Amino acid sequence: MGKLGDEAIDKLIRAGRIAKIVREEAAKMVKPGMKLVDLAEHIENRIRELGGEPAFPTNLSINEIAAHYTPVVNDKTIVPDNAVIKIDIGVHIDGYIADTATTVTCNPVYEPLLEATRKALEAALSILRPGIKAKEIGYIIEKTIENYGYKPVRNLTGHSIDQYIIHSGKSIPNFNDIFSRWKLEDGVYAIEPFATNGVGLVKEGETKTIYSIKKRRGRLTIYERRLFEKIWSERRTLPFCERWYRDMFSNIDGLRNTIKMLERHGVILSYPILIERGGGIVAQFEHTIVVNGNEIIVTTL
Ligand code: MN
Ligand code: MN
Repeated sequence: MGKLGDEAIDKLIRAGRIAKIVREEAAKMVKPGMKLVDLAEHIENRIRELGGEPAFPTNLSINEIAAHYTPVVNDKTIVPDNAVIKIDIGVHIDGYIADTATTVTCNPVYEPLLEATRKALEAALSILRPGIKAKEIGYIIEKTIENYGYKPVRNLTGHSIDQYIIHSGKSIPNFNDIFSRWKLEDGVYAIEPFATNGVGLVKEGETKTIYSIKKRRGRLTIYERRLFEKIWSERRTLPFCERWYRDMFSNIDGLRNTIKMLERHGVILSYPILIERGGGIVAQFEHTIVVNGNEIIVTTL
C-alpha cells in the first residue's frame, strides 16, 4: 500500500473501531440453537448502522470448517450445542478495510484450543515492529500454538490489505516459513493464526457461498447483466453473497442459477469453504494492523 495519508489512516481506524464493536457484540450473542443467518444479518446490519459497509460477507464457520462459510438465503443451519464457531468480520469505509475474527465455544473442552490461538495472536502483536520479517511472526505463532499441544494451520495465512483489496499479495505465515523473508513496511496487514487438533492443513470443500467479480466483460443475458451491474456498482472486486441480492429475483432459484452462470462465464469467482483435512476442530483470531513509519496501530483492538 505504501505511505498512507491522514485521511486513509482515519478511515482505517474508523473501520477498525466498528469491526471491534460488532465482533464483541456478535460473540456475546452466540447461543446454541440460534440460526447462523440471523447472526450474519445482525452483524452486517450493525456494521451499516455504525457507518461502515461489510468488506466481505460475514464468515460463520463451525468446527472443522476453518473459513469461508456465510449463510445462504433461508439457511436452516443453527449453532450446534458443542460448536466451535469462528466469526470473521470485514468492515470498509471507502475501501479502507478492517478484517477481524474471534472464536466462540460453549464447550469447555475446546477452551485450551481457543486460548492457544488467542495467545498466538497476542504474541505476534507483542513482537511487531516496522521491518520485522513475516517469517518471524509465523515463528512465534507456531511456537505458541505448539506449546499448547496443537498445530497451526499451515495453508491459511495473514495477508497484506490494500484499498478495496482484502488479500493484496503478501502472506504472513502461521508457521516459521523460511521463504517468507519479506519485511513489514508501511501499509495494512491482517494477522490471523488458526490452530487445530487435526493435521494442520485445510482443503477446499464442495460448498460455495462467497463470490467476487473477477473480470468486467462477458457475453451475458439480460438477467445476468442486471445482476452483474448491480454487484459491480456496489462491490467492485469486494466479495459478496446471495443474501445481498435476493430482492432482485422473484425466486431464489433464479438468483442461484444466474450466479452459477456468471461463474461459468468466468466473470465471477467463488471461494469454496475450507475444511480441516484431518477433520480437526479449528479456532481463529484475527486483528488488522496499520504500519505507518515507526508507528503500528492495531485498528481492531
Ligand atoms: Mn478475516
Ligand atoms: Mn483476513
